[in-house]
Amino acid sequence: MLAILQRIIQEVSQAGDIEQALTIIVQRVKQAMQVDVCSAYLADEKQQRYILMATDGLNPRAVGEVGLAFGEGLVSLVAERAEAVNLDHAPDHPRFHFISDTDEQAFHAFLGVPIIHHRQVLGVLVLQQRARRRFKEDETAFLLTVAAQLAGAIAHAEVSGGIARLVTNANEGVALQGLPGSPGVGIGTGLVVYPPADLDAVPDRQIEDAEAEIEVFEAAVDLAKSDIRGLQARLSVALTQDDQALFDAYLQMLSSTSLIDQVKARIRQGSWASGALRATINEHVQMFRVMEDPYMRERAEDIRDLGRRILRFIQKGRHKPPPYPEKTILVGDEITATMLAEAPLDRLVGVISAKGSSSSHVAILARALGIPAVVGLKDLPVARMEGQSLITDGYNGRVYVSPSVNVRNEYERLASEEAQMTAELAELRDEPAQTSDGFRLPLYANTGLLSDITPSLLSGAEGIGLYRTEFPFMVRDRFPTEDEQVDIYRQVIEAFATKPVVLRTLDIGGDKSLPYFPIQEDNPFLGWRGIRVTLDHPELFLAQIRAMMRASIGHDNFSILLPMITNISELEEAMALVEQSYNELQEDSGEPFVKPRLGVMIEVPSLVYQIEAVAKRVDFVSVGSNDLTQYLLAVDRNNGSVAELYDSLSPAVIMAIKHVVEGAAKHACDVSVCGEMAGNPRAALLLLAMGVDSLSMSASSLLRVKWVIRQVSRSRAQQLLEDVLTMETATEIGQHLGDALVEEGLGGLIRAGYN
Ligand code: PEP
Ligand code: MG
Repeated sequence: MLAILQRIIQEVSQAGDIEQALTIIVQRVKQAMQVDVCSAYLADEKQQRYILMATDGLNPRAVGEVGLAFGEGLVSLVAERAEAVNLDHAPDHPRFHFISDTDEQAFHAFLGVPIIHHRQVLGVLVLQQRARRRFKEDETAFLLTVAAQLAGAIAHAEVSGGIARLVTNANEGVALQGLPGSPGVGIGTGLVVYPPADLDAVPDRQIEDAEAEIEVFEAAVDLAKSDIRGLQARLSVALTQDDQALFDAYLQMLSSTSLIDQVKARIRQGSWASGALRATINEHVQMFRVMEDPYMRERAEDIRDLGRRILRFIQKGRHKPPPYPEKTILVGDEITATMLAEAPLDRLVGVISAKGSSSSHVAILARALGIPAVVGLKDLPVARMEGQSLITDGYNGRVYVSPSVNVRNEYERLASEEAQMTAELAELRDEPAQTSDGFRLPLYANTGLLSDITPSLLSGAEGIGLYRTEFPFMVRDRFPTEDEQVDIYRQVIEAFATKPVVLRTLDIGGDKSLPYFPIQEDNPFLGWRGIRVTLDHPELFLAQIRAMMRASIGHDNFSILLPMITNISELEEAMALVEQSYNELQEDSGEPFVKPRLGVMIEVPSLVYQIEAVAKRVDFVSVGSNDLTQYLLAVDRNNGSVAELYDSLSPAVIMAIKHVVEGAAKHACDVSVCGEMAGNPRAALLLLAMGVDSLSMSASSLLRVKWVIRQVSRSRAQQLLEDVLTMETATEIGQHLGDALVEEGLGGLIRAGYN
């Protein structure tokens, strides 16, 4: 059964649209379960009906034509109950509803299971049999498994098909729901970016000159052939004749006219070479995958490998950057920092990434650059987004494909309101972040790119509260040298001159990896990350600390921050290395210079409970609420499936931070909050009330938070904190704080979607 299921899933994942996907499902299930009928009904919310979308066994003319109103028939019963309904004689059931055009009068036995994706019933899968009989437990279990496994693929095909239909029906629009990545509204044209040699990520693209494209393809095939011959020659000493046959098979496939000609035929129809290759390879892979013979099935992987090899050579010849539309919305399966960095900022109006969540680095980067972003759109048909008219609603995590005129007008209005609000907020730049009753709360910026410095200065940041040093490490193909690091850190320190600058030591691992230092782990967020890596590699740590200290010569405005500290031994080891660096530098240079202040990120929950032990050793702590929330709530910050559970306004997170503030105060240790929470106006009210000493956030949030602080009194914030501490859910807390913002005349923030 497992093999059958895997094959169905495989076939469905290749289906171009929902009709094709469902047809494959009903045919394969009917065959595997040896029943008389298998049908799939999908919910149509507009018509409030379950429509028969595919059947093998009922009258095929009924497909797309007949359906049952919500609440009608056994199909609705399955959907309402959200569980299997198994009847040996369906016509006897009070909810049975005979549909005349389906020829279903002949069937007695009925088994229906719901198709559920993210708690939503998408439709119902039904088996019917002439004989009166109850379906067996294992048959029910199998059908439930098929429906559960395929729900995601069905949701995906539904969206994808909807978008394909849009090309011919431009009045409609499709809205896709993801997660807010970076606030703002972006209206523009989709440009798909993808990692090199990833066949699945190649978008559809049209070309004019087919003959030139065929030349590109043929040259790539030739290069792939000589590459494989080279591999074969190199391995001939180590491989048996038998094993070498693989390479012969590759070469044969590369010479096979069917594969090559099919690609060329697609190019002649107007597709670019990469797209034609992807479609042809997928078709061949599909053919092999459905073969009964396991050996032949394995060949599917060879074909894919071959496809990737050819693709690599096609892409090698294309160093030209893609033509970025005037208003580009970057779309990709997983937009990386480098992809963002490659795009011309003056044309970039939005970012859409199928993977990621609001605290993943693509989102952080987009916020730093002030570009609206939507992430975690699991069902996004990336390949179909090229050239589409798109709206990125970064407030609500929504993307509109080919939006209707009404939707477009509404968003244009929102975008201009937003621009006006930004202009008004700019006037606050040089005003202090001070409550109406005179309490000052310094606001700092989080940065990571040197290009963040100007926006941070423009936002009126009073310093840098978190400089993430991973970014300069990420954009190279090796570790930066100590001198290169000095150069980068000096630019940050000097840009802010007398204002505080907090440089955090390297925090790789988790979701941040370096191309030249890969860390492969099953559970990377609980693995080798942050200080754990750098303590294991003191040569990296020492070079970085030395670089930071050298960069600060002549300035006394900088602090060092240690990420991912879990216990006091780690802290003491790190402190000893900092001390060693300091002494060595002092000795080498012969001149005394100011010792940096030292701080610890509070992001692993263990330190919440050891806050006093930490606070008596260091000058300050900085709460990394992104990770603290992730670890306290056991919710992966990058996993869209559990993103709804990830909420920094959870009572657990609020109580943890309050505990940190109180513990640190006993040892005169400063507390900052530098996670995304600090840039959230609602949360900022609570942090202000708790008595944190500063907040650090992306430059794009800073003026909004300043506006909130200037508008309220600290005593009002303290009252709100008291209220919130009696509440038991994040929803209640969020609502209460939102209401308070409205009362204070800050409703604009809520309307604009700031939460
Ligand atoms: C945090 O965890 O809150 C934080 C600021 O660090 P990062 O997002 O870089 O992990
Ligand atoms: Mg962190």
